[in-house]
Amino acid sequence: MAEVGTNMDAGDAFFLVVAAGRGARAGAGGPKQYRALAGRQVLTRTIEALLDGAPGAQAMVVIHADDLDLYEAAIAPLPEALRARLFSPAIGGATRQDSVCNGLEALAEAGVGANAAVLIHDAARPFVGRELILRALEAAREKGAAVPGVAVTDTIKEVAEDSRVVETPDRATLRAVQTPQAFGFGLILAAHRAVRADGCRELTDDAAVAEWAGHCVFVFPGESGNIKLTTPEDFLRAEAKLLNDLPDVRTGQGFDVHAFGEGDHVWLGGVKVAHDRGLVGHSDADVLLHAITDAVLGAIADGDIGAHFPPSDPQWRGASSDRFLRHAVDLVAARGGRVAHVDATLICERPKVGPHREAIRAKIAEIMSLPLDRVAVKATTSERLGFTGRQEGIAALAMATVRLP
Ligand code: MG
Repeated sequence: MAEVGTNMDAGDAFFLVVAAGRGARAGAGGPKQYRALAGRQVLTRTIEALLDGAPGAQAMVVIHADDLDLYEAAIAPLPEALRARLFSPAIGGATRQDSVCNGLEALAEAGVGANAAVLIHDAARPFVGRELILRALEAAREKGAAVPGVAVTDTIKEVAEDSRVVETPDRATLRAVQTPQAFGFGLILAAHRAVRADGCRELTDDAAVAEWAGHCVFVFPGESGNIKLTTPEDFLRAEAKLLNDLPDVRTGQGFDVHAFGEGDHVWLGGVKVAHDRGLVGHSDADVLLHAITDAVLGAIADGDIGAHFPPSDPQWRGASSDRFLRHAVDLVAARGGRVAHVDATLICERPKVGPHREAIRAKIAEIMSLPLDRVAVKATTSERLGFTGRQEGIAALAMATVRLP
């Protein structure tokens, strides 16, 4: 166990982001903190909001031991200046409480001092605002232990196991508590260590840990928009909210052709499809991803795939085309926008696309961080007419809807 250092002063501030949960209530689709929300993973959004909100602060994320690859993918889209402010992730434990304790120990190992402020935040609250972060930092320094709370608008009933109402607490005295929960680092580390040593495992937030250890915990104003994404409905509402914040709707179109040559497979939408011929091209000749990339670039009026990735540049020889598409999606994100929908059509006699269609959709959705229901892939022949009908090559058409601020 590391001693708590004193080499940092009270001006130091750290975020501990709790991202080790499995998110079972959010339905299928893997841990909710790694799901895409309007084209960007929840965890990516949360880290960005925190670090942008407190320019001097650093952050550590507590992750599940199985999630290292997911974590790396989530931080990859962050600007280098933000990534530089992240510690290596800590590995969580069996409960949220264990995970936070592990994270605090890792911060202590990293030399965080007792007088520093630490804000402990749920990864599933990506809408945390700058004002709230500033209030939390101030509260950590002034109170030592404080949590954001909002007034309760529903009447709360305490009920027995048989659903009988036992009590109706006075609503005026109740607060729904959020994160970031704000503490002096030495105080909350010691409290977590004491709870762990005692074997107490029932505490659902860090304020309760501080309370258990005998500290006075204060409440400061939270934000109604700082919701915790818990259920599939929460995700749908959050998607809709983010979409409505992007009123400038653009449509882009793309078209591409590659000729057949020698080979035993073709790449279609990032999926390797066995065929008795290959497609000729400088990169992997993924005609479908090229058309979609051009559609996205067209929607933001930012040139075409050839301008961004010149065929004359040897570094793109044999390149996997998902990089081109991801770059176009990142250009949209850099403008504060998102791709809302993609519709693409492959035109060829062979190979038969039908058996691969769902795999191709899923791959495109993954590359673009889009929900599956926002990716359409269709296929048609040209009734043996023209170059596609003579099986000289494959053509692809695509349209992308992009929303910008
Ligand atoms: Mg091409």
